[in-house]
Amino acid sequence: MSLPEIRCGHCGHKLAEGHVLVLSIKCPRCRAHNHLKAAEPPASASSHATAKDAHAWPTPHHR
Ligand SMILES: [Zn+2]
Repeated sequence: MSLPEIRCGHCGHKLAEGHVLVLSIKCPRCRAHNHLKAAEPPASASSHATAKDAHAWPTPHHR
């Protein structure tokens, strides 16, 4: 399992490895201040969308 690299946006120096939601870090090489946020949406966002239609009964409509 490989972790994504977190690099300085100014000089490209590798700062860390892993997943980050929000991170504020100062580059030791060029001293640029890097503020990182997760670019990917949460993986569980779409798991609740179709839950309502998961158990659709074949019931006729009564009017
Ligand atoms: Zn840097």
